Amino acid sequence: MGSLRQSPPPSWLDEPCPSWCARVHAEDDHPEDRIHRAPPVFVPGVLAQVDPDTLERVPEAGTLLVQRTQHLSDPTPWILVTETEDVGRQLLMSEQVARQLADALHDQSQE
Ligand SMILES: [Zn+2]
Repeated sequence: MGSLRQSPPPSWLDEPCPSWCARVHAEDDHPEDRIHRAPPVFVPGVLAQVDPDTLERVPEAGTLLVQRTQHLSDPTPWILVTETEDVGRQLLMSEQVARQLADALHDQSQE
């Protein structure tokens, strides 16, 4: 018996997975789930909402999930940043914008 990884690729997968994809794809994956995904990186952080009346920040401990994804219909990958506990809002960036953000974070966190 072989593992899932050694099974033939599903018929809907026209091209091999990108090198960064860690997902096992199955023949019966729902069309919306036909997504290449890198292993996620989890970053602890503080997420704040601004109170509309007082304009004070209301901080809350959270965890950010950072992951490269590419649905079969996407011509290029997206870099996804999202709260693991909240699927409502997601930050999606092209690889180029993600590099700009990485540079900005680096610059802003220098001594
Ligand atoms: Zn894949």
